[in-house]
Amino acid sequence: MPTFDPASPDAPLDLLGVGFGPANLALAIALREHNDHPAAHPVTALFAESQQCFGWHRGMLIEGATMQVSFLKDLATMRRPTSEYGFLSYLHERGRLADFINHKTMFPTRVEFHDYLEWAAARFGSQVRYGTRVETLRPVRADDGTIVAVDALTSDGTLVGRARNVVLGMGLRPYLPEDVRTGERIWHTSELLGRLQALPSLRHRRFVVVGAGQSAAEAVEHLHRSYPEAEVHAVFSRYGYSHADDSAFANRIFDPGAVDDFYDAPEHVKQRLLAYHGNTNYSVVDLDLIEELYRRVYQEKVSGSARLHILNTSHVTAHEELPDGVRVEVDTAGSSTRTSLPCDALVYATGYRPADPTALLGELAPLCETDEPGRLKVARDYRVLTSAELRCGIYLQGGTEHTHGISSSLLSNSAIRAGEILDSVMRHRQSGTAEPARSHLATR
Ligand SMILES: Cc1cc2nc3c(=O)[nH]c(=O)nc-3n(C[C@H](O)[C@H](O)[C@H](O)COP(=O)(O)OP(=O)(O)OC[C@H]3O[C@@H](n4cnc5c(N)ncnc54)[C@H](O)[C@@H]3O)c2cc1C
Repeated sequence: MPTFDPASPDAPLDLLGVGFGPANLALAIALREHNDHPAAHPVTALFAESQQCFGWHRGMLIEGATMQVSFLKDLATMRRPTSEYGFLSYLHERGRLADFINHKTMFPTRVEFHDYLEWAAARFGSQVRYGTRVETLRPVRADDGTIVAVDALTSDGTLVGRARNVVLGMGLRPYLPEDVRTGERIWHTSELLGRLQALPSLRHRRFVVVGAGQSAAEAVEHLHRSYPEAEVHAVFSRYGYSHADDSAFANRIFDPGAVDDFYDAPEHVKQRLLAYHGNTNYSVVDLDLIEELYRRVYQEKVSGSARLHILNTSHVTAHEELPDGVRVEVDTAGSSTRTSLPCDALVYATGYRPADPTALLGELAPLCETDEPGRLKVARDYRVLTSAELRCGIYLQGGTEHTHGISSSLLSNSAIRAGEILDSVMRHRQSGTAEPARSHLATR
């Protein structure tokens, strides 16, 4: 694959990817498979990733936690079943294909899937600038004033790359309630494993976990299993954990075809579909895990020594970080009680929100079309709708739930979406709408 030549900033790349998580990794694979075709017009690409090396939600690589999507929805198979970048090729190369088949599961552990992703990412080392956070995009104008390329810059103004198309694959950001500040003993689940490792290795007595979604239940299970002397208090406002609907018909909401259906639907239908099927993904837990937690609670009742406490219809009203722990106040609505819980650490499993690209877009932001609530308007091919002055492509991988539906931030469609973005880049290149006038590119 042609690589970026930093010595030649006037020769823009075809594509620059911001972020190198699974979404842009799937795109890198699609590009390479395109370029490997002898008759292809090669597409030049570079990716910038703020982490020092590839990593997929490392803070939650809990031993035994499994994927919530079939391994067949890997980085490539749905787009090209014969791809050498699929999960089965990985297993074959690792010498585990027969063992995995005997395992009879569609849902590998996250630790194994992470290894698969690292295996794939390692094949793109020369195309990724790790430890590079893109802070802003700066327009590059041709003589006629139109914007024909974009410079991606770091916070100190270093040029990462100049490209005719930018693909923003920046993933999700941890979400915390407004009044919560993290500290040495107050964490979001995204940093769970790293923070636990850094805790002084005293005897741990109590952990409090806030939330009732998958990450919350996984954190509760992990803490209860890993610290056999500690109490774990699960605090949430629901009456109980609700299970994730992964039944066959509901699961079709993650199919590639569902993206078409969702995209074409009127706004009120979109809202309805998101409400109906939110329970496939949001604030829900795998049934196996719910049953495991219930089994533990019940066993502790039998033995008379309870360590796992479910504080339902409850919420944290205050917390104070102390030198050797946290004091947490919990109100329980059902019984109108207030409990004070000194603990070793308070873990917020309060979910994620898509990264907001607005700040990054900088001067380009006013040229991007938005809808009534201020969300970016995005075409079916994931290209942001812009004024005619902006001739280069800005594509979103993620942050498109309002236009493309519930699979936007998930892995389900990453292989297909990557192929659709590549097709769009090629289409625009042929029609000349993302082709810069080569003379006198000027930055502003
Ligand atoms: C614990 C956990 C488990 C999950 N399990 C599943 C699952 O089983 N199945 C499923 O479908 N989904 C799952 N998800 C949803 C998750 O969003 C996807 O798995 C996946 O991470 C989406 O890939 P992505 O590339 O869009 O985002 P990410 O994986 O978040 O990758 C984005 C990357 O962009 C980088 N980045 C961000 N901003 C910049 C910038 N300005 N400059 C440079 N780099 C930047 C980040 O460092 C990151 O590496 C899970 C999420 C979590 C938190």
